[in-house]
Amino acid sequence: MKRIGILGGTFDPIHLGHLVPAQYAFNYLHLDRLILVPSAMPVHRPRHVPASNKHRLAMCRLAAANIPGFEVSDLEVSRVEPSYTIYTLQQLAQGLTPGDRLILLVGEDNLPTLHTWKDIRTITEIATIAIMPREKQVAADFAPLRTILGPAKVDEILQNRIPAPLVPISATDIRTTVAAGKSVRGLVPTTVARYISEQQLYRHTLDPIEA
Ligand code: ATP
Repeated sequence: MKRIGILGGTFDPIHLGHLVPAQYAFNYLHLDRLILVPSAMPVHRPRHVPASNKHRLAMCRLAAANIPGFEVSDLEVSRVEPSYTIYTLQQLAQGLTPGDRLILLVGEDNLPTLHTWKDIRTITEIATIAIMPREKQVAADFAPLRTILGPAKVDEILQNRIPAPLVPISATDIRTTVAAGKSVRGLVPTTVARYISEQQLYRHTLDPIEA
C-alpha cells in the first residue's frame, strides 16, 4: 500500500516555492513517492518566452535527483494532445496496486478555478486533493464547486491544507530576475541554477520586470 503524491505545473522553472511545500507534504502526508509532472505548454500563448518541454523536464529531473522519494514523469510533456490532469491521474492510476492512494497537491491559488478543471468530480474520486498554501490568498467563490462535488467534499478539500511555511517565490520572479542579469542561486536548486545559466534560459522575457 503506497501513498503517492502528484504535483503538476509548468515548472518554468522549478524553484524552492515548489520544492519546500512538496517536501513538507511528503513528510506530513507520509508519502512514499512524490511525482513531479511538468505540463506541456498551455494552448494559449504564454506571455513570456517559455523554456521548451525538454528544458523544463530536465530541470525537474535535476531538482528531484537529490531528494529521496521524488521522481519526475514525462507523461504530459510527451503527450501530443492537450494535457488534462484527469488523463494524467487515470494513466498513473493504471500502474497502481489495490490499496495505493493518489494525493494530488495543488497550490492554493488554484482554488478559485478548481470547478473549471476537466472532470473535477472524477479527479476527486481517483485522488485526494491536498492544498499547498500560497502567499497570495485569492478570494474564492466555492458555490460552483459545491454544486459539482457537494458541500461535504468541498469542506474536506479545504481542510486538507498542508501546514507548510509560505515560500513567496514564483517562476515569474525567477524568470524576471534572470532577465535582469541577477542571481537566482538561492531560489532554485544549485543544479537548476547552473542549468539555467549553461543553457542561457530566461535571458529575454516578456514578463514585466518589477522593481
Ligand atoms: P508562474 O509564476 O509561471 O505562474 P508558478 O511559480 O506559479 O509559475 P507553476 O509551475 O505554475 O509555478 O506551479 C505548479 C504548482 O505549484 C501549482 O499548483 C502552484 O500553485 C504551486 N506553486 C507554485 N509556486 C508556489 C509557491 N511559492 N508556494 C506554494 N505553491 C506553489
